[in-house]
Amino acid sequence: MAEKIDGRSIAAQLDEKTKAQVDEMVAAGMHRPGLTVILVGDDGASQVYVRRKIKACEKVGITSTEHRLPADTSQEDLLTLIDQLNNDPQVHGILCQVPLPEHIDTRLVLRSIAPEKDVDGFHPVNVGRLSTGTGGIVPCTPLGVMILLQSVVDDFVGKDAVVIGKSNIVGKPVANLLLDAECTVSVTHIYTKNLPEIARKADIIVAAAGAPELVKGDWVKPGAVIIDVGITRIMGEDGKEKLVGDVAFDECQHAKAITPVPGGVGPMTIACLLANTVQAAKALQSEASKADHYADAPSRSMFTEAAPGN
Ligand code: NAD
Repeated sequence: MAEKIDGRSIAAQLDEKTKAQVDEMVAAGMHRPGLTVILVGDDGASQVYVRRKIKACEKVGITSTEHRLPADTSQEDLLTLIDQLNNDPQVHGILCQVPLPEHIDTRLVLRSIAPEKDVDGFHPVNVGRLSTGTGGIVPCTPLGVMILLQSVVDDFVGKDAVVIGKSNIVGKPVANLLLDAECTVSVTHIYTKNLPEIARKADIIVAAAGAPELVKGDWVKPGAVIIDVGITRIMGEDGKEKLVGDVAFDECQHAKAITPVPGGVGPMTIACLLANTVQAAKALQSEASKADHYADAPSRSMFTEAAPGN
């Protein structure tokens, strides 16, 4: 039987560390870390995500502020709000929930968030820092993937890793982080030929395709480690909705370790958002970072520091 990597418990451990860091900052006379979430429109799923993020902030002592704007908010008004938040010293993290209404240019809006407050790690400056190995804020889900891997992989150097999916928010940043950890990385996607064959060679498989149970048992070599990022909502035989990952979990029990869906990567994403907010708050308030915000390279070492046992 493969070891089940318990994302809920690892996320809870990370939250404890984050809370301890918040307490230390406040005790040292620094501003309490603050996260502002902007929600435009009334998309049901977005409202649920925002509520979860706000609640999670409370748990670790991060101050959270929510700006709910009507669906017909103009792009100019949204950019004005972001500009105010960029200049507000009490705000250390800004998150603009996507999707945004169609009349708003999402890329432009995400680029208007100051890179040092971009706790989602989507700003091109942070993407560039990540891909050149020069710090920056690491996007939450990829950071969570690395923390989960760290809990079961002793040594990344020279390992063969396969990333399935090449999106900007998951596949590409995960591939960059694995490269930085000295893995040999194959980044694959919908047009990749012989994907099962490529996967079979891998010591580490990160599946982020959004294709239910794509990765079959015979794609996985014995002893591999599998991180399943995929989440798809499907209708079960009992007529109830259920969440399915990208990996046929039951067929892959010859792996060394595997994340379940739900309860694997999912819980890590919000825990990493909180951790990123605290790192941003520290960096924004530290003297060194005024010369070079990234001097402390906030999130880069986080997946090693946050791994259980460290
Ligand atoms: P995306 O649609 O932007 O990208 C999917 C990628 O997978 C593309 O590069 C595509 O080429 C590739 N792909 C799709 N089907 C494939 C197939 N059959 N074979 C090989 N490659 C295939 O998706 P995304 O935003 O990167 O998200 C991927 C999955 O991860 C989704 O299920 C999403 O819900 C989930 N996700 C989970 C979390 C979390 O917190 N757990 C966060 C982000 C995304």
